Amino acid sequence: MKLSDKELETLRELPPKKLLEEVFGLFGERAAIGTSFQKTGTVIIDIASKVLDDFRVFFIDTLRHPDETYKFIKTVEEKYSIEVEKYRPDVEELTELLREQGRYGHLFSVDERKNCCQIRKINPARKMEANLEAAISGLRADQSGFRNKNLSKVYYKKRVGQQSLLKVNPLYDWTEADLDSYIEEHKLEIHPLYDYVSECGEKYRVIGCETCHVPVQADRPARAGKFPWETSEKECGLHYKDGGGI
Ligand code: SF4
Repeated sequence: MKLSDKELETLRELPPKKLLEEVFGLFGERAAIGTSFQKTGTVIIDIASKVLDDFRVFFIDTLRHPDETYKFIKTVEEKYSIEVEKYRPDVEELTELLREQGRYGHLFSVDERKNCCQIRKINPARKMEANLEAAISGLRADQSGFRNKNLSKVYYKKRVGQQSLLKVNPLYDWTEADLDSYIEEHKLEIHPLYDYVSECGEKYRVIGCETCHVPVQADRPARAGKFPWETSEKECGLHYKDGGGI
């Protein structure tokens, strides 16, 4: 089912709870929430649980996440009685990647980092998304200039040989403060790494693969801790509209 421009406009006007209800109502099992279990994903799952009896959640397991993430997934699964679908890199592709650039090659050049994201993150995501008509994620406009300028709350992403994928970002216009107040009001347990404070006062504001995300000082930009050696838009390519890689 392909939605018209007018229908997309209508969806964009809906608050998160209503938007999730509508999207799951339209697409059922062909819709799913994709999350790396940062604050936004945790809040979306909580909102979905208030309006839906059953909904799909998936996680791209790059095999480089910190132990805290894997433990937190179990906590969320138990709390909401859901089973998170995990998608991992293809064994042959991963073997080839490790042979070519080693375990830490992604730290030495942007191209090698992109190769790693392609094999560990984007390819498994494409495999998961091939079963879907609508993918819901926690992307927010205030996370980066790129997201603000190029993406929106509801849009279609092109796919090769398949109908475009509807991308839905229920918290697109929320700020970090909005997230924190929802978390406080609903007494949500969040990823334990948000509580980590280094001896210099640095904290995590973006959580992902262990070697590519670090805690940062409060006055640095929100996404400074992701690929800290890069000055680019700091996107792994999962959300690009043209469906291309990175
Ligand atoms: Fe590889 Fe880092 Fe991308 Fe994770 S975030 S897939 S470790 S380059």
